[in-house]
Amino acid sequence: MTVREIVKRFTFIEIFQGMSLTLRRLFSHAVTIQYPKERRHIAPGFRGQHALAKNQAGQAKCVGCGLCATICPSQCIHISRAKGQVDKYEIDILRCIYCGFCVEACPYGAIVLTENYEYSDYKKENIYMKKDRLLSNWDKYMPGKKGEEYFKKFWRPMSDDFGTPTGQAVWRGKKQ
Ligand code: SF4
Ligand code: SF4
Repeated sequence: MTVREIVKRFTFIEIFQGMSLTLRRLFSHAVTIQYPKERRHIAPGFRGQHALAKNQAGQAKCVGCGLCATICPSQCIHISRAKGQVDKYEIDILRCIYCGFCVEACPYGAIVLTENYEYSDYKKENIYMKKDRLLSNWDKYMPGKKGEEYFKKFWRPMSDDFGTPTGQAVWRGKKQ
């Protein structure tokens, strides 16, 4: 044991340091907030409840290709198609880890993670997201231009990002 450790042990210096920290905190501003009266500011791009995106005609963009379900590490997306359209689109939210892979994988920009985080419930079936609810989430949480801008702001790479870098050799085909 070093002299420094012996001094620490017999003078209780660490206990006094801890007590002084507690005393200082006692009179400083509280960091907790009184939810639900007060709410934190949610940063744009927060990964909350899912929504299925709609096009300008108000129809679901999803074509039911299943890429999102394939990439989902929790295997919580269930899709089926009938008559060339998405028949069933369901997300078992309780298994979701909000990784955002489904959004990244979708080639049509058809699924988003909205900023809504207030959807806890006492019944599991109320949290199980079905197609109609996911579509209505789009109207509720991604109104107007918000939905359009969502992908531009938060998700990369986009198709525009795949340009040819300056100076890179480009294949131009055989000259006839
Ligand atoms: S956010 Fe991740 S875990 Fe949740 S549904 Fe999408 S891919 Fe699956
Ligand atoms: S949300 Fe996108 S990736 Fe998933 S099934 Fe629909 S179109 Fe395909």
